[in-house]
Amino acid sequence: MGRARLTELRGPGVHPRPLDARALAALAANPGCHRRALLDGAGIDKGALARALGSPAAYGQSQFALVRGTAFEARVKADGGTELLRLVHERLAPGTPAPVPEEVATPDLSAAGPAGRAARTALALREATAAGGWALLDHPMLAVEVAGSPAYVEPDAVVVHPDGSWTVVEIKSFPMIDGSADAAKVGAAARQAAVYVLALEPVARHADARTGRTVRVRDRVLLVCPKDFSNLPTAAAVDVRKQLATTRRQLARLTRVEEIAAALPARTTFDLRLADDGKTATRPPEELAEAVEAVGAAYAPECLAACELAFHCRTRARRDGAVEALGRGVRGELGGLRTIEEVLAAAGPDGAGPADPGGGADPGEEDPAVVALRRAAALRAEALAGAAVPAPRTEEPGCR
Ligand code: SF4
Repeated sequence: MGRARLTELRGPGVHPRPLDARALAALAANPGCHRRALLDGAGIDKGALARALGSPAAYGQSQFALVRGTAFEARVKADGGTELLRLVHERLAPGTPAPVPEEVATPDLSAAGPAGRAARTALALREATAAGGWALLDHPMLAVEVAGSPAYVEPDAVVVHPDGSWTVVEIKSFPMIDGSADAAKVGAAARQAAVYVLALEPVARHADARTGRTVRVRDRVLLVCPKDFSNLPTAAAVDVRKQLATTRRQLARLTRVEEIAAALPARTTFDLRLADDGKTATRPPEELAEAVEAVGAAYAPECLAACELAFHCRTRARRDGAVEALGRGVRGELGGLRTIEEVLAAAGPDGAGPADPGGGADPGEEDPAVVALRRAAALRAEALAGAAVPAPRTEEPGCR
């Protein structure tokens, strides 16, 4: 059943949408969401699904940002990557001999198709490692095993060090001001880089066996950004060990996609029934919504920056009064309370805890979240009672 069922979920004749590093990284950022795991694992186009549901995604890079990003990357890699290698050496290998621009290898990685390019990349990495010098691989192609099929990902660059170690380089166009950048953007870049590190690991094991050298993929990647508000490059080393562990765990869980699919009602499908133009969905949105609702989701406001279905899931979470819509931090603080209605009831004078507090808590013990809510409600009431409420001014028109 497995694979055939996933094909059925996409609909007849619909090709699976390949996963890229950004999608894999976002998947790892919300490991509890079965909905995303299933849709990504089955290769369903979530953007098209969101449009057919009437809740199109509003995120993605503007054309202007894409052009600016491409121009910045070209600048960073100009002159055979001299500046890029200087930054790698300065931030990740100080105290070792610096790269001499004329001696840096820049192998040609062109080949037919992603599988051909991945094989060419593996060979170039092996040769550069055996040579024992510096090498810069511009847009290498790497394969990651996702739910039994290869997904191809393409880092901005990989640098081979003379000691046989490899560094992933991510080039982003958001600014690094006084040495630090937007934490959310750095986090997303780190998750993406972790996918590349993961994809390099089997290639490194192979190179290790073939070259007789100790080959290691560094778990500190180089993030290159524009310095302050200029277009001069600056860089920081980013430790991706945590993201690596999460991505590894989440990709291993993806093999369970077939189990999620098996638990769905037999006739469930996400087929958009595209019209002859290949773009217009003819399937009624209510039917699609029913199929989507059949798979459990784990909505959090972070989804808005990472998943095409975010508007749809947010609307449903708000409609159900789910506390998840308030953010993971608040969700964690509320313990066993699942809905906003439950929270408000618990904050009242006769507030009761959740029917099932979970976590093996003693039923005789009060839920600490309920105690805190009641205390907060009492403080608020006290503050409001004590506050002098100014009378409305008659001489000024009110805000309309
Ligand atoms: S938007 Fe919906 S499907 Fe996407 S990760 Fe969030 S909860 Fe899951």
